[in-house]
Amino acid sequence: MTQAEVIDGKAVATSVRDEIQKRTGALFDSTGAKPGLAVVLVGEDPASQVYVRNKEKTASECGFHSVKHDLPADTPEADVLTLVQQLNEDPAIHGILVQLPLPSHIDESKVLRLIKPEKDVDGFHPINVGLLTTGERDRAMVPCTPAGCLVLIKRALKGALSGKTAVVIGRSNIVGKPMASLLLQESCTVTIAHSRTRDLPSVVRGADIVIAAVGRPEMVRGDWIKPGATVIDVGINRIPAPERGEGKTRLVGDVAYEEAAKVAGAITPVPGGVGPMTIAMLMANTLTAARRQLHLSEEE
Ligand code: NDP
Repeated sequence: MTQAEVIDGKAVATSVRDEIQKRTGALFDSTGAKPGLAVVLVGEDPASQVYVRNKEKTASECGFHSVKHDLPADTPEADVLTLVQQLNEDPAIHGILVQLPLPSHIDESKVLRLIKPEKDVDGFHPINVGLLTTGERDRAMVPCTPAGCLVLIKRALKGALSGKTAVVIGRSNIVGKPMASLLLQESCTVTIAHSRTRDLPSVVRGADIVIAAVGRPEMVRGDWIKPGATVIDVGINRIPAPERGEGKTRLVGDVAYEEAAKVAGAITPVPGGVGPMTIAMLMANTLTAARRQLHLSEEE
């Protein structure tokens, strides 16, 4: 039995970030401008604090102008909207990211819709969703996680996506739906599966490319995978790990990795697969946003 190629998302993310750093330096040398990223965090959710810290740190490493707005959990919605409006008007800020989830008294969609689409580096604004689904990817901001998955799939398949069958498990606005749009644009034949899908194992067995974005630890089993398939595991699930000591935990994906790696052609690990790509693509989106707002072509 062969063992799947491990898709090293961490290494790919490092090379993407190195490239962004170089292009940021070149942008600064030619225009004196730096891509500006503003991250807005409302409340003290510990996971969000870690994400925001990582985003800020990576932005600084890439040579960006990076600003963080830390607001208390009881900040009125109107104040968050005012801040977003100020960032919309700030010429030094090219990308605005409001960390989700927001506290329950704030209407998330109201906040996200206020962000100027050209500064919406998360790609969640309906204008960007529309541009992506109508095939105008060149004008859209594409959500970071599916954009990162696509980079990994293209590398694993050496660009040969056209005509492949793909199953995306999960239909969220953040991962599943934009992932399906991206694969469709690459001329894959795409199925979107979800909690009401009948006989999911047999749906998955037909796929050359499987993207699992469910949030259920190790749900996708090895015998669901078509031999040689490319498997992208988006899930991040923390489960108890008593073997590591009392009260210890570990991270697993939505795919039973050991089983699937015996059947797949290529597979992403968790951690070290999709996760690092998400943040790298946020940086890529911010650089793209800056170049568009400075009326420069996207490629040097
Ligand atoms: P959501 O909870 O928004 O969506 C989960 C999707 O999975 C839903 O569409 C749901 O279907 C579907 N689903 C749930 N149970 C089943 C089931 N038994 N069979 C088939 N489908 C099922 O999650 P997200 O899309 O936000 O995230 C998915 C996972 O990816 C999570 O583990 C999250 O932590 C991770 N993630 C990782 C990122 C990264 O950077 N690596 C970034 C973003 C997310 P239905 O619509 O019918 O309810």
